[in-house]
Amino acid sequence: MRIVPAGFDFHCHVDLFRDPAATIAACNQNRIVALAVTTTPRAWPQNSRWTAQSPYVHAAVGLHPELAEERHSELSLLESYMPETPFVGEIGLDGTAQHRNSLQTQTMVFTRALECAQRLGGRVLSIHSRRAAGDVLKALEENTTPVRVLPILHWFSGSVTEARKALDLGCYFSVNHRTLQHASATSLLRALPIDRLLTETDAPFAMVGDRQPEPRDVLDTARKLADIVGVSSSSMSEALATNAARVFAFAGLNDLF
Ligand code: MN
Repeated sequence: MRIVPAGFDFHCHVDLFRDPAATIAACNQNRIVALAVTTTPRAWPQNSRWTAQSPYVHAAVGLHPELAEERHSELSLLESYMPETPFVGEIGLDGTAQHRNSLQTQTMVFTRALECAQRLGGRVLSIHSRRAAGDVLKALEENTTPVRVLPILHWFSGSVTEARKALDLGCYFSVNHRTLQHASATSLLRALPIDRLLTETDAPFAMVGDRQPEPRDVLDTARKLADIVGVSSSSMSEALATNAARVFAFAGLNDLF
């Protein structure tokens, strides 16, 4: 079945919504292609079942860096589920004060996930890099090649220099409404080629004012992104759709839209 997407949410947590089935139904209704990331491998079977019937929502298997310390025993489970889906996430590193103590375990988990993705090939990764962009890029450089792994840096908040290095490593950037509010967003987003931009929400996190975000909020983000980058809304929509098609083709889904 070929779909006609209106927008793309490359990082949301469908399973953390109060009613995941309703969130998936809303994506189908609003024609939002969504990547439903997970924070623990144990969540994979259920997410896989929930999304199986939706041509719009695709599930990713992951192990969130903030859970790496308490969940690293699920690493072999992550590796055993990875052959079932081309999408991996949420994985990565978190260097904030709250999670710095577990960086060694985080790095072990992230590295193993990267090695497995590299071995399998055709893997699209949604990567958390808060306060750890340099270390994330180092791990990508050491363990992956752009021919086998397509990394998407989710809610990237690193420097322009780090972003340039990420581009050299083949990274894409999924931008949300909160990325746009960041003081350095304009210089960062203008430094990125339009063909590496994607949209996301990180819903149900990353509040929009006082409400919970929804996948369809990517439509507004795409319009604001067009303003910041200085292209028309229609050029931006077209670029985002072309980029999304390229990412899905990398994952082996060539005829989705
Ligand atoms: Mn997230």
